[in-house]
Amino acid sequence: MKQNITAILKEYTKEPKIAYFSMEIGLKDEIPTFCGGLGVLAGDTVKSAADLSLPFVAITLISRKGYFKQEIDGTGHQTESPLTWEPSSLMTVVSEKVAVTIEGKPVHLQAWIYFVESLRGGNVPVIFLDANLPENSPENRALTDHLYGGDECYRLKQELLLGIGGVRMLKKLGFRVKKYHMNEGHAAFLTLELLHEHKKDLEKVWDESFIWDFETVKDLCVFTTHTPVEAGHDRFTYELYNKVAGDYFPEKVLYKLAGAKHLNLTMLGLNLSMYVNGVAKKHGEVSQSMFPGYRINAITNGVHSFTWTSDSMKRIFDKYLPGWANEPEIFVRVGAIPDEEMWNAHLEAKKILIDYVNSVSDAGMDADTLTLGFARRITEYKRPDLLFFDPERLERIGTGKIQIIYAGKAHPRDMDGKHAIERIFSQIGKFKGKIKIAYLQNYNMSTALRLISGVDVWLNTPLRPLEASGTSGMKAAHNGVVNFSVLDGWWIEGHIEGFTGWAIGPAPTEIQPDRNMSKIDAEDLYSKLEKCVIPRYYKERKEWIRMMQNAIGKNAYYFNTHRMMRRYVTEAYIR
Ligand SMILES: *Cc1c(COP(=O)(O)O)cnc(C)c1O
Repeated sequence: MKQNITAILKEYTKEPKIAYFSMEIGLKDEIPTFCGGLGVLAGDTVKSAADLSLPFVAITLISRKGYFKQEIDGTGHQTESPLTWEPSSLMTVVSEKVAVTIEGKPVHLQAWIYFVESLRGGNVPVIFLDANLPENSPENRALTDHLYGGDECYRLKQELLLGIGGVRMLKKLGFRVKKYHMNEGHAAFLTLELLHEHKKDLEKVWDESFIWDFETVKDLCVFTTHTPVEAGHDRFTYELYNKVAGDYFPEKVLYKLAGAKHLNLTMLGLNLSMYVNGVAKKHGEVSQSMFPGYRINAITNGVHSFTWTSDSMKRIFDKYLPGWANEPEIFVRVGAIPDEEMWNAHLEAKKILIDYVNSVSDAGMDADTLTLGFARRITEYKRPDLLFFDPERLERIGTGKIQIIYAGKAHPRDMDGKHAIERIFSQIGKFKGKIKIAYLQNYNMSTALRLISGVDVWLNTPLRPLEASGTSGMKAAHNGVVNFSVLDGWWIEGHIEGFTGWAIGPAPTEIQPDRNMSKIDAEDLYSKLEKCVIPRYYKERKEWIRMMQNAIGKNAYYFNTHRMMRRYVTEAYIR
């Protein structure tokens, strides 16, 4: 393939593309260039773009050492090691190279190309930028090694490589681009490179400060923000920026585009994008109030239906709902699946999960007990141990009736997240003989698929309004797994009480921020677990299966990336 990759790519440069930039893209575990929801969303986006035959190309960094491999000892202490992988076994390198000036020296970049091929014939190239070249210094060679690793300076350099290097590489490879889509602010430096590319003719402007063609660049850019809090937005001091980027772009103009105090990548994206959106309705509103001067739209996230459906569910979907994978709207007919077949398909997925849990832990779980799952990035705002807010009460309600499976990585420098894992581990010990609890190590996409399809109830307990969207609950819904979650992010839109699942805590409109939300949410969690979830599972199996159907027919029907991409096309790309 290497010999004719340039010829193959030529085929792709015939029509103008949507260029999708993301710091992380999660396509499969063998390409470990993702950390969590943002990256998996990017991967699902690319897969749907391929299924829908959209003119699409994606750009990210090669992250040769991945995010990290997680190991947890008996006390819940997490240690990290590199997740080194070999790109050449999975993708092809091209001979074209570009360079970005960092600290006064060129950092050369090569590109690895991976094609996401849809069973339906569509095909999307994903470009992985790689600085590991002999012409770079050892320090610069490592710039595309670690995803979200290193310090601020390392991060800034990576973002310059992604934004500026990405635009240059697309051009070098012959791509024509009709829209640049920034998946989060990490890629926002691409706007500055586009300003350089689209400078006005010096003879036609009054003075040099009018040379920048903001309107043309804005027309080219789409920006999706994922962060619902001010502190979450990427920002750098101008001192650091000047040290790293030098005179790449005049600082005075940058003040207006990215903020006078700090260089804020979200501001840069906002100021230079014609279309901006949040990732759920609520998140759109929260972002709108954070940035009152801008028009912020909302396109609620989704998941790639085929990727996130278990084999046993796929089988009954194929039988009763043919065509579902490329037209998830067909889930509207989920009622055509007989209850017994739906239940058996679920039980098959559940047994696969339980066998796996029992093979890696001494939890000794069984497939008859109501099983709760919680897995995602472990960080304070997700409140991973809210379930243990009142252990005595949990013991009273759950002994002999529930079992719980956890998984998730904490960022290596997130001490609060790491402590949360330790607290969960200490509860596992205390609940021995009462409630079976397991914590699966090294959460990744294949563990995620097993979990979201094999548990009965998917739990999510974020602190409002910090869950911009959340996507794992959408994956669960695709498998008839019922959501039991705080009303934040996508669940505000997907939740119908007792019908698609259950809410934890008050409706978003009833929140009084100075109250002790964790106590209120935990109370509600326990009370619904006792009065609604447990009785329905054991005593009203028919009703339970009805809820499984609703999860598919109402939630999966809507919260998929096919619907999401069709909206990006009609609302953001074709404008
Ligand atoms: C889907 C997914 C996530 C996102 O989970 P949320 O609950 O939406 O935060 C994180 N990690 C992996 C591996 C996933 O597959």
